[in-house]
Amino acid sequence: MRAKVHVLMATGDIPALAKLACHAGHTSKNCCHICNVVGQTAGHGQYFRTLPGTTIRTIESFRSFNPDSVLCKGLKRQSPFASLMSFTGPFFFALDEIHGLCHRISKQVWGLVCGKYGSKHPLFLSARAQKEIGAAIEGTRGSIPTSFHAVDWADFLLFVVPTLVAEYVHDQDAQKALLGLVQACTLLMSWELSAKEQTSIKRNLIKWNSYLEDHFQNGKVGIEIFTIHQHLLHHYLAMIVVFGPPRAYSARSLERAIGEYFRLIKSNSAIGANAGNVMLRLAHTRYVDVNGALVVKARTIARILQYNDKSAGWPMTEKGERVGVDSDIEFWGPLGCRTIHDSIEEISCLPVLFAKFYESKGVECSTIDLALTTSHKAFVNGCVIDSAFAHKVQREAHHVCLQLQVNKTTNTRPGLSTALKVFFGKVVLFFEHVNERKRWPLASVLVYSTMMYNGVPVVRNGQMKPKVVHLVDVKELVRLVVSDATVNITTATTTAYIVWPELNCGPKLSLGSFADI
Ligand SMILES: [Zn+2]
Repeated sequence: MRAKVHVLMATGDIPALAKLACHAGHTSKNCCHICNVVGQTAGHGQYFRTLPGTTIRTIESFRSFNPDSVLCKGLKRQSPFASLMSFTGPFFFALDEIHGLCHRISKQVWGLVCGKYGSKHPLFLSARAQKEIGAAIEGTRGSIPTSFHAVDWADFLLFVVPTLVAEYVHDQDAQKALLGLVQACTLLMSWELSAKEQTSIKRNLIKWNSYLEDHFQNGKVGIEIFTIHQHLLHHYLAMIVVFGPPRAYSARSLERAIGEYFRLIKSNSAIGANAGNVMLRLAHTRYVDVNGALVVKARTIARILQYNDKSAGWPMTEKGERVGVDSDIEFWGPLGCRTIHDSIEEISCLPVLFAKFYESKGVECSTIDLALTTSHKAFVNGCVIDSAFAHKVQREAHHVCLQLQVNKTTNTRPGLSTALKVFFGKVVLFFEHVNERKRWPLASVLVYSTMMYNGVPVVRNGQMKPKVVHLVDVKELVRLVVSDATVNITTATTTAYIVWPELNCGPKLSLGSFADI
């Protein structure tokens, strides 16, 4: 096969983009490589209020560089990329979400909390509150990492800000503006964006900007808040029109590779040559891995259970279609054997739970097979989920979101109808059970009692209810953020927020209760 390769964009952090675009960089007066905004301060350190009327740089200003032209201000010379046929203008030097949103905007929010931009605005929190948030993050180490690399800053923005930070912000406008910013960033980090979601991003970013503007104008926030990153936020939507959501061309995967290169580059004098050799060597190793993997796969295939027969318990829609028919479900080893009468951690009533499960599926189970094939790990909907049983791990990956069909009785229509409700719980163990000559991929879970707080589901007072579920009911891996501050509000001893990437952008949750199951 022959193919032509075209360079469609170049991306990186702000200094890298400046180099690629031959732009003077964000410390110059004409700091933005995308638009003609002008810095507000004299001397070193430039800040940029995003005011109406700034124009986007033209494609010609890059293609026909002229140092005397006003349109070329901030450009140092002609970028080699500008002469490519595929060059599209300023967005060719695309903004990277991992550096721009995760790292810089997260840091800026933490800066507001800590008083870096002034202490008279409602987002500034007392030293005690800051310390408590820090301690809560530390306490959730297993599920939210605290070593703040760019990717971990994403966790801070997506999970810590709407929970641990928001609960300390009592001013309603401040809280709304902040949660709006988080929602906009969450959407900007997603793989797909509808027109409605793009409108919501725009609305939230404008709200955040005018919130900062208001506080700047009444002297409560310093001009330092208007960093280049705060400014660039407003260019994301136009970039999405050109290239689609930034997640698809993010430097996330590169970040890991860079870490690996960084460890391997030892030379002090010929860094470039050393880096080149390291890259070639790694590429060779990968090539061998790809070819060697075939052999390894053949050997390990017996350790994995796959499910192609969707008739074993896959739920049906009202139209008679199978739900989750696209989901790949696999059990990963180590596999083991147990019987239905064994008690597994906190669950000692498996026969009852099995009977209840098969009854809900309308399956005969008068003579139930006692044997279970157990598994410690499962692959569901693109997530690798651990079981809590006999598993000591650094990072908990066994909290899940479940979507279960529950019976509901309505006053208007007597009799039973079903509804889908959302539950959260921890997976104790995965197992395959053979019933009616079909292989059923199942999990025993402890379902949490939950309620909504500040738009986020929280686990209530540690109550749990055991249940056997079909793996297709497991929708997503979630994490817990434990807080002490909500104690009085939810009358619980400890409260844990339940968080996951789509939390802030998904539709409203229809939370189920213990009575439903
Ligand atoms: Zn700009």
